[in-house]
Amino acid sequence: MKIIVTGSAGFIGSHVVDAYIKAGHKVVIIDNLLTGFRKNINPKAKFYKADIRNLATMERIFKKEKPEITNHHAAIAEVVKSLRNPIPTFQVNVLGTANVLLAFGKYGRGKHKKFIFSSTGGAIYGEPKKIPANENEAIVPLSPYGLSKSIGEDVIKFYARQYGFDYLIFRYPNVYGPRQNPKGEAGVVAIFGGLMKMGLRPTIFGDGTKARDYTYVDDIARANLIGIKKGKNEILNLGWGKKISDQTIFDNVAKYTNFKQKPIYAPYRKGEVYQIALSAKKAEKILGWKPKIKLEEGIKQALKSL
Ligand code: NAD
Repeated sequence: MKIIVTGSAGFIGSHVVDAYIKAGHKVVIIDNLLTGFRKNINPKAKFYKADIRNLATMERIFKKEKPEITNHHAAIAEVVKSLRNPIPTFQVNVLGTANVLLAFGKYGRGKHKKFIFSSTGGAIYGEPKKIPANENEAIVPLSPYGLSKSIGEDVIKFYARQYGFDYLIFRYPNVYGPRQNPKGEAGVVAIFGGLMKMGLRPTIFGDGTKARDYTYVDDIARANLIGIKKGKNEILNLGWGKKISDQTIFDNVAKYTNFKQKPIYAPYRKGEVYQIALSAKKAEKILGWKPKIKLEEGIKQALKSL
């Protein structure tokens, strides 16, 4: 298949591209390198340095490439930044998404045209009533980032109906692994690991009990690979269904970097959910997907790349 993957000079998208290329697909990358890097780009993929906010550019690329699948990972993926300065997040995550959908609707081809999207389970439900949260949990985002992803989901459903293509929306947990940027806002395995390797004390926002569902990036890439064929017009959480606290991540990363100091504890940051985990029972039923790589093994792999 010919697949356009947006945002795939970034962390997760680049692993999705690697999985697609390994499976024999032809891949075209669109990325403006805002938070992505050239070094993440698989040399077997064709690369357009382009901005999804530009509709004319998207139409030109899609008209030329005529993909059967579009996998949309390009986004501004930062919660706290979106609270401080929300408009760029909406411009990329909502209007940019609409541009990619319009271009794909017009120029995508084939009987099995499909749009795969990386939404968020961690930032769309707010504080969930039930943990692990399933896909029926109320949508109550605490940040413009979470809201932008929720609106993105609706825009996808609308254009899928308008143009008659299928969609598959993944609501990701906290994803971690090689190529995650240690200078980012919230990829704590990479951030803690990067600092500890330099002998510096990482900051934990809160008392260490804030918790997330951590899933290794290869498991997420595998869901995107299965999603080419399975999962028609579905919204699927991915994750282990287990809460892992900031302190547990800190302790594990410290163990494997041989770091002996304590963290700095700072006040909680506004807009961040306190605790969440995601039930991926539906993804298991529909895709036959379950995460495989356990936390300790995943952390060891992630740290090797820092
Ligand atoms: P990332 O920042 O590494 O990747 C995003 C990519 O999008 C970057 O390469 C960036 O350069 C590109 N991009 C940004 N604005 C663009 C624009 N206007 N035009 C073209 N490209 C643009 O982040 P990531 O962690 O790999 O996240 C990938 C996707 O997964 C995002 O959509 C994010 O919202 C979603 N997601 C990530 C997580 C996580 O734990 N990392 C959790 C939930 C959802």
